Amino acid sequence: MKLRYLGTGAAEGIPAVFCNCALCREAQRLGGKNIRTRSQAVINDDLLIDFPPDSYLHKLSYGLDLTAFRYLLVTHKHMDHFFPQEFSCRGGYFSHDMVHEDLEIFCAMETRELFDRVCGWEINEERSSHLIWHILHPFEAVTAGPYRITPLPASHMHEGNEPFMFHIRDEEGKSVLYLHDSGYYSDEVWEYFRRAAEEEGPVSLVSIDATDGRTETCRSGHMGFSEAFRAKEKMESLGVVGSQTVCVFNHFSHNGQYLHDEMVRTAEPCHVVIAYDGMALEL
Ligand SMILES: [Zn+2]
Ligand SMILES: [Zn+2]
Ligand SMILES: [Zn+2]
Repeated sequence: MKLRYLGTGAAEGIPAVFCNCALCREAQRLGGKNIRTRSQAVINDDLLIDFPPDSYLHKLSYGLDLTAFRYLLVTHKHMDHFFPQEFSCRGGYFSHDMVHEDLEIFCAMETRELFDRVCGWEINEERSSHLIWHILHPFEAVTAGPYRITPLPASHMHEGNEPFMFHIRDEEGKSVLYLHDSGYYSDEVWEYFRRAAEEEGPVSLVSIDATDGRTETCRSGHMGFSEAFRAKEKMESLGVVGSQTVCVFNHFSHNGQYLHDEMVRTAEPCHVVIAYDGMALEL
């Protein structure tokens, strides 16, 4: 299984769209791995995770063919993970020689409803018929081609919303826990992790939300480094994370007050990889 991080920033990106704080100015000056676009990842050549406003930039930066993807998982409806307006340019007059006309989209009902509200009116019936929706429910596994995916409820948005984290397995026994955006996990998610570790052993990769960086007072719905390390240690004790598991921190905000190299210095001794835009991993 291949996984590539296309965007590793929180909603506002780094440097943030409308910000001149010291961190943003320094990140902009240094460039390179300090520049973080909005959150998106790709597994192999067929599965996209999230569709932020920077998806078009990712197509340009990484030479992607966005029509080649068959499956799209959407974690939740926050703008940095789902920017439905872009789909008004998918299909028909706007898109020629597509590799796959159909795209299977897996998301919560409220994410689907946002899509309908925001751009349903711009998409005619023919183009709409090529978007095949699968509504997810917590802990109910679904199949997307060669992938088995279990959506896990994230501690992220207010009550009534259904942000999801994903447990993704392929047919070769590789597995990924993609845990963005998320605060510390609920008891029922820990129980899921415990059972999954018992039945399937350690995962190949765990990607943990570390949005708040060195900020100790975590906002609700995200984690800082200290909480993310605590989550990793508990996963180790449960056998979710083993000696071969790649452990990644991802989804960073300028409010975390960390440049890339500073995060690497903090995380490396704890065997944690700091994600950056374009980082490709072979699992
Ligand atoms: Zn986010
Ligand atoms: Zn800033
Ligand atoms: Zn969010």
